This record gives sequence, C-alpha cells and structure tokens, in this order.
Amino acid sequence: MIVADGRGRRLVTSVLALSLLALAGCGQDKGSDAPPAVASGSVSLSPSHGGLQGGNLVLADTGGDTDGPVTVRFGEDEVECEFDDRSARHACVAPARGTPGTVEVSFASGGSDVGEKTAYTYTTQGTQDVPHLTVNTETVRRNAEEIRADFPSNVQLGAVLKNGEPVDVFGKVIEDAAKVDYIFVPKLDDAVALRQAGVEAKIAVLYVAQVEDIPLLMHYDVEVAATDPAWVEAAEQVLATTGGTLKVHLWVDSGMGREGVVPEEALPLARAIEDAPHLDLAGIATHFSTITQEDNDAIERNDTANTTVAQKNRFDDAVTAIRDAGLGKDALIHAGASDVLDQEIEPLYYDLLRIGGMFFGSAAPDDRVYSWTTELSQVKTLPAGWCIDYGCTDPITEPKKVGLVNHIPSRENDLTYTVGGRQVPVLLDHGTVLTLDLSGVPEAAAGDEVVIDFSAEAFHMLDATAPLPVTTTGG
Ligand SMILES: *Cc1c(COP(=O)(O)O)cnc(C)c1O
Repeated sequence: MIVADGRGRRLVTSVLALSLLALAGCGQDKGSDAPPAVASGSVSLSPSHGGLQGGNLVLADTGGDTDGPVTVRFGEDEVECEFDDRSARHACVAPARGTPGTVEVSFASGGSDVGEKTAYTYTTQGTQDVPHLTVNTETVRRNAEEIRADFPSNVQLGAVLKNGEPVDVFGKVIEDAAKVDYIFVPKLDDAVALRQAGVEAKIAVLYVAQVEDIPLLMHYDVEVAATDPAWVEAAEQVLATTGGTLKVHLWVDSGMGREGVVPEEALPLARAIEDAPHLDLAGIATHFSTITQEDNDAIERNDTANTTVAQKNRFDDAVTAIRDAGLGKDALIHAGASDVLDQEIEPLYYDLLRIGGMFFGSAAPDDRVYSWTTELSQVKTLPAGWCIDYGCTDPITEPKKVGLVNHIPSRENDLTYTVGGRQVPVLLDHGTVLTLDLSGVPEAAAGDEVVIDFSAEAFHMLDATAPLPVTTTGG
C-alpha cells in the first residue's frame, strides 16, 4: 500500500459527511438515555488501514463499556457504528476519502467524547495485505522547488508522472512547488485523477488514446499523442460530434524504437493533423536514448557517429520539413528529459523539457520519497541439513536463524531487506512468503521491523506496472 504524507487535506465537507453528521445528530438525541461509556484506554481499530474508496468494515474497540451505538469520526467524516456481538466491537463502515494519508479517529457516545483517539490510514486502492509503501511528499516538494529554482528561464517545464500512485498528490505538490507548464502522464486515468484533484496545468497523455476515450479527453481538457494518420482520421470523426479542438503532440521516433512515427512519416502525419478541423498540432516531440556528458561536444562537432547527434539531426529535419510546409508554427518542440537537464545539454532544451525522475530522487536515506516496511511474521532456527525451497538443491549445513515476511509483490526491480540495521539475504522468495537469512541478526524477533528498499539506481522511479496501494506523509 502507498500512503501519502501530504497536504492533500479536504477543503469542503462532502455531502456524504454532512448527511452523516445529520444522522449523528439524530443518534445523539436517541442515545442520551444510554449509559455513559467509560474509557478503558485500550482503543484500537481492526483493520487500521483501508482504501480511499471506503465501504469496508472496520471493527472498533472504543475502550469504553457501552454496547450502544457510537459515533466514530474518521478525520472530518462521522459514521454511526452499532455494537457487533460476535467481535464485541463496534462495527463501522469506513467513509471514503479524497487523498491518502493518516487521519485521527475519535469516538463519541450520547453526545460526549469517549475513549482515546487513534488513527486510521487511507491508502490508494490495492490489496491491503501488501505492506504499506509511504510516500514522503515533503521530499518531492523540495525537489520540485530546487528544479524550478535552477530551471532555464526561457524553457517550459513539463513534469512526467509515470511512477504510479498517488498521481494526484504528486501532481498537486509538483504543480504548486514548481509551477509547471505541463504534466505528462502515461494514461488517461492519471490525467482524470489530476483534473479531479484540481490540477490546472496543461495535461498531456504521453501515448496514443483509444478513440472511444476522445470525449473524455475533451471533457477533462487533456492533450494526447498522435502517431498514426488513421488514428487522426478516426479521432476527427468523433470530434466532429463533440465539437471543440483536441490538442495533439506529434511523436517522432528519432532512433529509440519506441513511441512515434519514423522521421519520413512526420510530415504526412502533421498534414493529416492540420487538415483535421478539430485537431490542433500543439507539440512535436521525441525522446533520446543515450544521453551522455560528451553530447554537447558531439553536437558542436556534428559528430554523426554519436547516437544523440544522429537522433537530434533526424528530429530537427522532421521539424524543419513540417515548418517548411507551413505547418506546426505554434507547436511546442520538446525532447529532453532529466538526463538532458542534468548534463546541461542546452541544444536539446528546445521549448520544453519533460522531467520525471528528478522529482523523485533523494541523496539521503532519511529524505527518500518512498519508504516501505513490514515486520517479521515468524522467526525460527532451521536445523542443519534442512531444505530451502522446492527441490532441495542447496540444503543448509549448519543451523540457521531465519525470519519470514509475507505478501511482497513481485517487481521489476530487485529489493533489499534490512532487519535491525543490517541488510539480510533472501533465502527463498515465493512472493506471498519470503524467507530471510537472519544469521547476521541474532537478536531479531518476530514482529521486528523489516525495511524494504528498491535498488539504489531505480529507487526514484518506482515502476507502476505492479500497482501498490499507497499512502503519504509530509508536505
Ligand atoms: C519517462 C519519460 C520522460 C521523463 O524521463 P526522466 O528520465 O524520468 O526525466 C520524458 N519523456 C518520455 C517520453 C518518457 O517516457
């Protein structure tokens, strides 16, 4: 799960919350005859975390001795909870919430507060069995401020958000701190989440949209990639029914083997876009494969053996062909990502830079954007000769202390596990059960915290292909 430490506080009480408040008011009148609850001090929730969508059962030990209804406040939202005999807890349905994060939970009965306060953590959607991933938005905010402070003044700043949830929280923090001109996202859902969170910057989907999604793009004022004249034609047919103008970015594959048309097809595609009355050529873009610190010199010398120079020349030629045909005069030219800015390859800045990873890096472990922890579910010592994993290819020759952790989703990037400050080897990884070698941590016990890290170089670009539920802390 991912939790955000954030400033995404709710500004308005939802209609749902208001109606629940009204219900709570009725409950108070009825409940005034109920015996006053006495706090026992042992307040807890089962479970103490859940998805933003709410609707899940939360059993509350209120620490009181009432079996009458109680009003439970989750942050600003109140719910009425009846006593459940089977669990001897109050049964609440968690209210929905807009942004991930931890809220205070308090209890009232008969109109007065009872028990102690506790906390409930809202995460993005995803299985709640996976350990919480916590996002420190304070670090993202600081990175965004630093990027803006050093950013070339005549270049527009586009933020690329493709490391997944909570895309709306990231978008708000980055828009606020870096005053970005554009936010680029991989998919329409991300764009919708940004608009729903109130992001006002221009938003463009990096890849081609389904034609059936075009009315949604229009509704949410979202731009999109164009890489195919047939798509342009199909899009124009839908747009003739919606009216308005869809802004598109023409992608040129200048030698990366990914999105975009090969350079010779750029002009016909530009012509198809400009011929379509409801499409506007807002950008012409490419993406570099091999940015190095030698590139400035290589561009200076026009060394066509250099991959970046080869890509740049192909892209520039495509742009020139389009412009010479009188097309795309107002289109933004954009190509560079974090590596171009980091290496200061100024000839590749063009009109706009698309910056992704730089927003998510951190030098110091304490400032990291992502922290992910779980606990040892079991600790034991295996006897000598014991098999590890199916097939028994590598039985242990000495007794070995091991610890188990559960529900670690498989990921593109390797993970490391740290217990008691020491990184420990993985003996067996079956995803839902992992066995860690605790030989180096003799004092480790069940329940001890396990810190999970992404590999150092990939840490800032958490891949979003295996979505994790997320929550946040920080600013
Ligand atoms: C990922 C991506 C970026 C941003 O790259 P970073 O190295 O994370 O800054 C820019 N443009 C495209 C097309 C991308 O896919």
